[in-house]
Amino acid sequence: MVENQTKKTFFAGDTLMKEGEIGHAAYIIESGQVEILVDRGNNKLKIGTRGPGSMVGEMAMIDDQPRTATVRAVEDCEVIEITREDFEGWIENADPVLKMTMHVILTRYRDMLKKSFFSSVKKTGVEETEKQNDLHDVALNAIKMRNELKEAIGSDLVLYYQPIVDIKNRKIAGFEALMRWMHPEKGMISPGAFIPIAEQSGLIVEMSRWALEEACRKVHDFKEVINSDIRSDDPFYISVNFSVRDFATPDFFDHFQETLKKTNTSVDQIHLEITESLFFEQPALASEALTRCHEKGLNISIDDFGTGYSSLSYLHSFPVNTLKIDQSFVRSMLHKENSYTLIRSIIGLAENLNLKVIAEGIEHQEEATALKELNCQKCQGYWFARPMPEADVLTFLKEWAVPDF
Ligand code: C2E
Ligand code: CA
Ligand code: CA
Repeated sequence: MVENQTKKTFFAGDTLMKEGEIGHAAYIIESGQVEILVDRGNNKLKIGTRGPGSMVGEMAMIDDQPRTATVRAVEDCEVIEITREDFEGWIENADPVLKMTMHVILTRYRDMLKKSFFSSVKKTGVEETEKQNDLHDVALNAIKMRNELKEAIGSDLVLYYQPIVDIKNRKIAGFEALMRWMHPEKGMISPGAFIPIAEQSGLIVEMSRWALEEACRKVHDFKEVINSDIRSDDPFYISVNFSVRDFATPDFFDHFQETLKKTNTSVDQIHLEITESLFFEQPALASEALTRCHEKGLNISIDDFGTGYSSLSYLHSFPVNTLKIDQSFVRSMLHKENSYTLIRSIIGLAENLNLKVIAEGIEHQEEATALKELNCQKCQGYWFARPMPEADVLTFLKEWAVPDF
């Protein structure tokens, strides 16, 4: 290797950086090719190559975690070195928010690389991993997906709706809005595949705002066609899912209110669904935002209840109205005594705390009957109806016959 201040030359076969070692610099390749290798047992697995214009080892500019890969020159290479000191110099006068953001991004990036790498190794076996697990491609794919997703808001994102059935009177109480991405080439993509990227990139905020406004408009349309014989007496509503990131935006509540006002929607026509993670990831924000929502009369449901946080203490610290029992408990309630007991306990807890309960994932009549006997108030699941596009909701509402259970 030949050094000249920030410029370095590596000869074919030289190692630029080694997996596991603490890194102090990144390199921008000016000429030549390098290969990226990861240790797999006694072997080194090649996961990609890099040429002129690429940067390698960039994470070392920001923290001193061990290198996640080895980089070796396959041809003689000219590179520009950027040390951590150089980098720190550039950002020394930067805004503290920028510095903090860089650390947050870096942590997420590392987590994402780990998750993507290991999940694809498990699924595809080592032979196929070579191409897929190019670490940079993973990041690039996430960026590409995020950009496509941004374009999709307002055109290719749609809401599907699943009815929520009032058990006592066997009528429709409302719908849950569930997002789908109608990708022009890949077809319909389910939220499990794109919501995590939307959450990581922060795009979720824009998406949730779009979903809220869409739901506010649709609640009027649906209410207009729903036959009073099948409509529950309580105010008809659409329930919208929100993520922790939504609550981290300072104008979350103001925007929420503005949307209701703009669409002429009353607070009882929209319910919010959030998961328990909000309470321990952002307790201060959660408390403030939920208190404001509660003061205005908004209904807040805890989604996937029972799967997340181990402490129930938040139930008395935060103003929530409804517990949505996770579908995993419902799925096993008729075969596993523990699941049945757990559901009965959640319903008892809710009764004592004056909360409502919705059970999710009802796929069989027997589950609906058992939940009715347990005094569960509302149900949702494929047995009643699968989530459906808006056009089908209108037909569904005109034709639906109440199932017997
Ligand atoms: P979730 O909020 O718990 O929604 C319930 C999921 O269970 C939905 O999956 C629904 O289609 C599915 N489901 C309903 N009934 C049954 C049943 O009887 N059996 C089974 N096996 N599944 C049933 P989906 O639509 O794929 O959504 C998955 C998750 O993605 C949602 O889970 C929610 O966490 C998230 N998500 C969906 N739409 C949005 C959104 O607009 N915003 C946010 N932040 N997250 C969303
Ligand atoms: Ca939900
Ligand atoms: Ca759920």
